[in-house]
Amino acid sequence: MEFISTRGGERVTGAQAIVNGMAVDGGLYVPAVFPRISAEELSAMLGMDYAERAALVLGKYLDEYDPAGLLSALRSAYANFEGDDPAPLVRMDNGMYVLELFHGPTCAFKDMALTVLPYLLREGCRLLGIDKEVLVLTATSGDTGKAALEGFAGKDGVKVMVFYPEEGVSGMQKLQMCTQDGDNVNVVAVRGNFDDCQAGVKKIFRKHRAEIGQEVLLTSANSINFGRLAPQIAYYFSAYCDLVTSSQIGMGDKVDFCVPTGNFGNILAGYYAMRMGLPVGKLLCASNRNCVLSDLWKTGTYDTKRPFWRTMSPSMDILVSSNFERLIFELSNRDGALTSERMRSLAQTGRYSLGAEELNEFRDLFYADFANEDDTVECIYDFFEEYGYPMDTHTGVAMCVANRYKKKLDDDPMSEKHPLVVLSTASPYKFPQDVLYALTGNDVKDSFKGVKRIHLLTAMKVPEAIKSVRYKPIRFKTTVSSDKMLAEVLKFIG
Ligand SMILES: *Cc1c(COP(=O)(O)O)cnc(C)c1O
Repeated sequence: MEFISTRGGERVTGAQAIVNGMAVDGGLYVPAVFPRISAEELSAMLGMDYAERAALVLGKYLDEYDPAGLLSALRSAYANFEGDDPAPLVRMDNGMYVLELFHGPTCAFKDMALTVLPYLLREGCRLLGIDKEVLVLTATSGDTGKAALEGFAGKDGVKVMVFYPEEGVSGMQKLQMCTQDGDNVNVVAVRGNFDDCQAGVKKIFRKHRAEIGQEVLLTSANSINFGRLAPQIAYYFSAYCDLVTSSQIGMGDKVDFCVPTGNFGNILAGYYAMRMGLPVGKLLCASNRNCVLSDLWKTGTYDTKRPFWRTMSPSMDILVSSNFERLIFELSNRDGALTSERMRSLAQTGRYSLGAEELNEFRDLFYADFANEDDTVECIYDFFEEYGYPMDTHTGVAMCVANRYKKKLDDDPMSEKHPLVVLSTASPYKFPQDVLYALTGNDVKDSFKGVKRIHLLTAMKVPEAIKSVRYKPIRFKTTVSSDKMLAEVLKFIG
């Protein structure tokens, strides 16, 4: 399968798309056409385990990869998850379903893809005959960084470097990153917010790729890399199959998904699943107080000229959702020039608008809303009180939006209703202070006190990954301003 850039003419193989990370013209790689999963293939998927389902989906895009190699890489990636299903679907007493994507080594959904990306990258290099050392450069709002570090630590021929916003991640996220083992890893804090980090990394790619490229091959583990997106498509299919095999729906019935959204990578994978033929009704895009996307849905204008709020769902504190570029490329009927123009407008003026037809289509496929901090706290509290199920703060945002959406449909006798799956993107133990506050109203100063209290209250098992971080030494303490990021990269690759 070939890939093209959202901004123009570039055309590459899947291996190149993954190895490059981002197109040379500054755009993002998208499949030249969407591959289809036929009704027969979907039926066959019912009898498969998670890794087999994922191998079928990934194989559609990465047809130059050896299918047996792909399957075995997926098997070993998901073998390190806690429990025997990497993405279990749980039925809630309110009739909704929660898709738990946090059972991986870092307790966030980023593990679903970042445990697989090292293989996709290494095999991609082999297919392209590249034997240079690879540098994986990543900006993180907290969870990607740790998942990338964990995925690549100790792997031969790769170095991984993570930039995170100094004040923009939770205490537990910071601890998880700064205690990372491995000789091939580096973690640096940046003064500023996630958008500053992401802009800094993108700038290094755009302006300094050639210079750095003399020494090492530069790529990214951010969700702009198609290798991040592809494994995420699989769990939409898998959740659907689980609904069918447990007789919750019939084959062909439509299902809605509600996704807590930041960089628009997770929900975009749902859109890709739909384009591949999965019977999806609506994709619900849930934002926190940084509600750029739900404002776009309401007004038709993407507008980043607004205050940036730090919230208790830090992985969604984003104003420039990178992967939205892939969606507007589709909404514009794949107009690379127009996409390019809009991205220029976004960079220069902080905004752009959708055309009337594009906005209609966006509203047809998606619904968007946001939950502020109080709404989120209340939702987490109520949900635990009523159903005994603790959620993390990001999932709380999504559940709040899902509840409101459901109520809206219930109030409208003409509405078309589907089963609703809420994607749970992190373990409550990853944000222990805020989750404890939501559950009890109590503040604790220390993350591990929070973990202990949540455990006492909910009896939910504490993941090994959280327990083990407690006594590890802090290895990384550097903080720089965003104009010093390049210097840190050059120092690291020496
Ligand atoms: C990254 C992340 C999100 C946002 O996902 P996007 O793909 O960036 O939209 C939501 N919740 C958690 C816990 C995350 O780590």
